[in-house]
Amino acid sequence: MNISVIGTGYVGLVTGTCLAETGNNVLCIDIDEDKVKKMQDGIVPIYEPLLDTLFERNIKADRLKFSTSLEEGLEHGEIIFLALPTPEDEDGSADLSYVLGAAKNIGKLLKSYKVIVDKSTVPVGTADRVAQTIAKETTVEFDVVSNPEFLREGFAVEDFLKPERIVIGSSSDKATHLMQKLYKPFVRSGNPIIIMDEKSAELTKYAANAFLATKITFMNEIANFCEKVGADVDKVRIGMGTDSRIGKRFLFPGIGYGGSCFPKDVKALHKSGKDNNYDFDILNAVIKVNDRQKRVLLPRIDAFFKGDLKDKKIAIWGLAFKPETDDIREAPALYIIEDLLKQGVSITAFDPEAMENVKRKFGEQINFANDMYEAIENADALIICTEWSIFRTPDFNKLKAQMNAPVIFDGRNLYDVQDIKSEGFYYSSIGRKTLG
Ligand code: NAD
Repeated sequence: MNISVIGTGYVGLVTGTCLAETGNNVLCIDIDEDKVKKMQDGIVPIYEPLLDTLFERNIKADRLKFSTSLEEGLEHGEIIFLALPTPEDEDGSADLSYVLGAAKNIGKLLKSYKVIVDKSTVPVGTADRVAQTIAKETTVEFDVVSNPEFLREGFAVEDFLKPERIVIGSSSDKATHLMQKLYKPFVRSGNPIIIMDEKSAELTKYAANAFLATKITFMNEIANFCEKVGADVDKVRIGMGTDSRIGKRFLFPGIGYGGSCFPKDVKALHKSGKDNNYDFDILNAVIKVNDRQKRVLLPRIDAFFKGDLKDKKIAIWGLAFKPETDDIREAPALYIIEDLLKQGVSITAFDPEAMENVKRKFGEQINFANDMYEAIENADALIICTEWSIFRTPDFNKLKAQMNAPVIFDGRNLYDVQDIKSEGFYYSSIGRKTLG
């Protein structure tokens, strides 16, 4: 099939590349000229495991192309995916200006029947608004489908190629049939394509993200309480997670959720509730607790240095909001860095993929190391913000030799508390005893 994807971010580029991988001819459109030029030159503009191999293969096979022209995109695709940003607006709602702006332009350019697919995460009722916006500009027939995306950054290609489910919200048999045909190769192992109405599809995505954010937040609260009463969250987590109704995943406490989805999606669902006279009390609590959790290490660090942080040298391992991505949107590390800078701390950071993005935000205010050991040279303490695998089994002797003092604040519970104490470290983590 001929497919166009409007917006080539984490979702759009992965969608376009993976659809090309199953033999479709895909044209990806973006307004960012530099980005399009890079992609036309064969450069993947984001870090996402496996993406470069598929990207290269499909460009070579002439199935994956890039352009800045929406007009070309509309001519090319029978199905037009909208993978546009829906960032948080000032009032917490999802900013629909990208999606509705594109819809208006699509309406102006439409010459023949197309299926317009909302892949962006959008509030309930957006498919109707997109359809109305297009219809204002044209009399040509079209359908709007809601097809929320559930991929995880860091596993985006894997998730797209083998999704646990595909949700399609559509009231048109013609559009539904086309979408089923397109996705058939991705569900050969028997995972479902779930067909529903547009509104339910839109809400499914928000409900899933809000539930996961709530699960993490609940565990963070349990972890904080563990510290108060002398319990160990690792034991509680395993004790809870073996109950199949609860499940083992998403129970790891830490310094809060971040990223380009959970924070804005929880807020947008909360705001949608308000707009429809419904108070999502639970989401209010999730937002509040997560804001607090992102800064949970700061008072401890302050207490450790007895309020005197000026000119202390602190190393940070991990800047991305989670491992295996270069995405730093709403990353807890950023909040920690901002606070420490205000207190006059000298920061040296290392992240395997996200340093360029952080450099753009903080410039010369912080130092960037070439590797994890360079970052800890002469450091008075190390803070771990992201659980990249390479941080899991460091050479502790090297750390002790190179740091000014063997002090670790671990926001991701990477090490066994007893083991690290026997290595001679002061070690503070989340929901477990602080030893040292
Ligand atoms: P992104 O910011 O990485 O990418 C958006 C792209 O759209 C950018 O390249 C931008 O230049 C381009 N763009 C903006 N306006 C445009 C226009 N008018 N025409 C063409 N291109 C335009 O965003 P993302 O992370 O890929 O997210 C896209 C949507 O998917 C959001 O609604 C998000 O909530 C949702 N989503 C994201 C993820 C994720 O893990 N990132 C997962 C599931 C769903």
